[in-house]
Amino acid sequence: MVDKILTDRFGRSFPYLRLSITDVCNFKCTYCLPDGYKGEADGFLGVDEIRRLIAGFAELGTRKVRLTGGEPTLRKDFLDIARVVSQTPGIETVAMTTNGYKLPERAQSFFDAGVNAINVSIDGLTPERFELITGKNRFEEVMDGLKLCQEIGFSPVKVNAVLLKDLNHSELDAFIQWAAEGVNLRFIELMETGENGAYFEKHHLSGDVLVKKLQATGWVEAPRDALGGPARVWKHPNHIGSVGLIAPYSKDFCTTCNRLRVSAKGGLHLCLFGDGGHDLRPLLQKDSDKEALKETICELLDLKVAGHGLHEHNTGATPHFASIGG
Ligand code: SAM
Ligand code: SF4
Repeated sequence: MVDKILTDRFGRSFPYLRLSITDVCNFKCTYCLPDGYKGEADGFLGVDEIRRLIAGFAELGTRKVRLTGGEPTLRKDFLDIARVVSQTPGIETVAMTTNGYKLPERAQSFFDAGVNAINVSIDGLTPERFELITGKNRFEEVMDGLKLCQEIGFSPVKVNAVLLKDLNHSELDAFIQWAAEGVNLRFIELMETGENGAYFEKHHLSGDVLVKKLQATGWVEAPRDALGGPARVWKHPNHIGSVGLIAPYSKDFCTTCNRLRVSAKGGLHLCLFGDGGHDLRPLLQKDSDKEALKETICELLDLKVAGHGLHEHNTGATPHFASIGG
């Protein structure tokens, strides 16, 4: 039962929660964890804590939950988590974002556990480029996993690709052609984090390059959908795929923010680039704390600010996206 819709001081509502379930990752994406994951590998929210968290959010109007990380599929209890989230009354979409590790073997089990939407990160379209960016020689495996997800019936299946000057910029036309063949692509502009400042200066590429290419080849921008948030999406009258763009440096990006984030240890993050998490974990220990949890979430939402400070290189407390789920 929804008893209140989370709405902030600026009139934005929040039907979408991104839940990180681990900080750990086995890839070394050059923009995220170039030296691999270095921290502790434990202390993350357990299944019961996640069940209570999602039940509280669902009663505040959350309809979509994305499981992310780090690499969420590294959690041994990933299927239990997916089941618990998908069985929560009010949650309509359980999405996940993955680097595609072991996806051919595991995609069906994710679907069977209740995940109905999946984003697979693929930043390069050849094995060499994929390895150069992710540090892993797993291109074929990830592509096989993606095909399987399309057959299994996840809806939607999307590919995330970070736009990177000098690294995958030359593949833009090939990426767009891939979308024309039926893939739902989602480009993300590289964002600056606490640890990637020099990399950001070297490789950030504005999404305008992409927008110009799309406009020149007959792609038409589609109206935003309610759960879609700040992404812009283009479709083509002759093709079935789509191309999306998340451009956090664009004007008014934050005015369409529709998402909140909870870190793997239970910190509520009001913005990807905020000053750290507000600890919800003490309120996740007993079912009887649900009302207190909901009140706390509502109170904290009053602290959400109008927009991020990325233009001033203020990246908040986020060292890299593996620590909060992107
Ligand atoms: N490990 C999973 C993956 O890579 O798909 C899920 C977590 S990852 C942090 C979520 C998304 O954030 C990925 O698509 C990744 O490419 C993107 N990402 C990570 N760091 C980023 C950055 N600095 N700027 C833009 N996107 C970033
Ligand atoms: Fe791992 Fe995802 Fe970060 Fe790559 S982007 S290092 S796969 S958490």
